[in-house]
Amino acid sequence: MKPTIHYRISAAHPEAHLFDIRLHIEQPAAEGQRLSLPVWIPGSYLVREFAKHIVSISAEDERGALAISKTDKNHWQLAPAQGAVTVRYTVYGFDLSVRTAYLDTTRAFFNGSSVFLGVEGQLDQPVEVDIVAPSGKAYREWRVATSLPAHKAKPYAFGSYRAADYDELIDHPVEMGDFTLIQFKACGVPHDFVLSGRLPKIDSKRLARDCKKICEHQIRMFGEPAPFERYVFMTFVSGDGYGGLEHRASTALMCKREDLPKDGETGMKSSYRQYLGLVSHEYFHSWNVKRIKPAAYAPYPADGEAYSRLLWAFEGLTSYYDDLTLVRAGLIDADSYLELLSHTITGVLRTPGRLVQSIADSSFDTWIKFYRQDENSPNSGISYYTKGALAGLCLDLHIRQATQGKRSLDDVMLALWERYGRDFYQGKPVGVPEDAWEQVAEEVTGLKLQAQFDQFLRSTEELPLADMLASVGIQWQVRSQTGANDKGGWLDKAKPNGVWLGARTGSDGALVKLTHVLSDGPAEHAGLSAGDVLVAIDGLKATAGNLDATLAAAKPGDKLDVLAFRRDELMNVKLKLEAEPSQTVGLRRDDSDPAKLAARQAWLHG
Ligand SMILES: [Zn+2]
Repeated sequence: MKPTIHYRISAAHPEAHLFDIRLHIEQPAAEGQRLSLPVWIPGSYLVREFAKHIVSISAEDERGALAISKTDKNHWQLAPAQGAVTVRYTVYGFDLSVRTAYLDTTRAFFNGSSVFLGVEGQLDQPVEVDIVAPSGKAYREWRVATSLPAHKAKPYAFGSYRAADYDELIDHPVEMGDFTLIQFKACGVPHDFVLSGRLPKIDSKRLARDCKKICEHQIRMFGEPAPFERYVFMTFVSGDGYGGLEHRASTALMCKREDLPKDGETGMKSSYRQYLGLVSHEYFHSWNVKRIKPAAYAPYPADGEAYSRLLWAFEGLTSYYDDLTLVRAGLIDADSYLELLSHTITGVLRTPGRLVQSIADSSFDTWIKFYRQDENSPNSGISYYTKGALAGLCLDLHIRQATQGKRSLDDVMLALWERYGRDFYQGKPVGVPEDAWEQVAEEVTGLKLQAQFDQFLRSTEELPLADMLASVGIQWQVRSQTGANDKGGWLDKAKPNGVWLGARTGSDGALVKLTHVLSDGPAEHAGLSAGDVLVAIDGLKATAGNLDATLAAAKPGDKLDVLAFRRDELMNVKLKLEAEPSQTVGLRRDDSDPAKLAARQAWLHG
């Protein structure tokens, strides 16, 4: 049966960044049809007000022009119509991120949540979408990449696509342009790898081979068949950019040109390892958050925030499994994994807000805190991604230890998948109630885990990382940073703690700007604030190099004479240096205990 709701989206004006959209409603509500646009996009927990990019809108019915008016920021009311209604509107797309829409003369990308008005009362109805190319010779090579099921469109062609309902319609982003397409199958399922933006000569065979390993590992972890018939990775490649957003059968990613493996390049450079981690992260979301999802997201409330204390499970555990997948799939070795883990731990230890906010609270307040970072964020909050990943690590290792390796976090994920995820898009969708995650974990493992949940998720106590890692033969070294670029790693000779400023810095021209002043550190004690620009230290111009050299030569208790601008006012403060806290972690394998070695092998290699 032909859908009675039909959209036509045309990348009509690339030079003006405007999409033309036509929405045809065969059976509008008799009392006057209401239309809406979401205020946020699932996966990115911030109200973004997509409706602000609707430039103009008009409507008509059989008789001609039909009155349309806004009733609030993201709703429109049509007058009662005679027969079918057609709504025409224009959307401005000039956001290069993966969250909204973009159109210029080189490419187009959109999320349905930015461009498709919902027909209220008919959101459960099937819809058809025509995707139309810009006209003109310059766009002859453009193709379409999307996981939206094709109706009459040939593969990668402009034309007609269909979705079972509005929720599906807005969960398949669309890329258009003259992109590079790499294809592979994972567990028999076709995967398209689409790269847009100006590309260097990349090793596409390696990219396909590596991504296939990630995909097959994750499909097998949750059990075949894969939860989609095909999958599309779309990556926008540029000089700088990083990020991704998950969807039910695709993901939109951004990376730097230099992250991709170049032709002839061997070895695993850290930027490519990071990119593969991103691929792994977003792909894992196909199970964890797109199908196993909080009850608060089932369905997604399009008009406002969806509150859950479970983002530590949906983002944190996805972050735990993204790098773990790389080692389990054989893309990196155990030492490389430990290096990634030490960076995550170091990042958390350098965030004083871990002692202020729990990850359950961080999850709940993401809308106003994590997604609205400011100069005080490191002092007042903690990321449910990074600390969530470490909570996942502690839970996993605790479960393995307490069950003598008979159970693991994988079993919990699988049980959640079977109970909530597998049938999410087939039949009646059921989300995970706020208390169910922990119940399922206790059921599956046969363990009492209340104490761990209370400590890891709901308290600001430090995680028992050193003990947990020791249980799988991993030694832990915690020390102060030894230089500005020291991200961690094992130091054979422990150095005495150096001094620190207690601030994160950026630059203001050649001078040093304090971007964040950390709780209870020397900068705070001296009365310096975020935003202050250091002008001189002990009578010499304050450059980054000069500051580093001064700190390297100083010892705790030394005093610095600091001149700084606050706004346009010059301040003179005495800063007393203090010993840098031990918050840089190195990890290394210790194979001396065969039982621990075996436990580590089982954990990292299955
Ligand atoms: Zn994520």
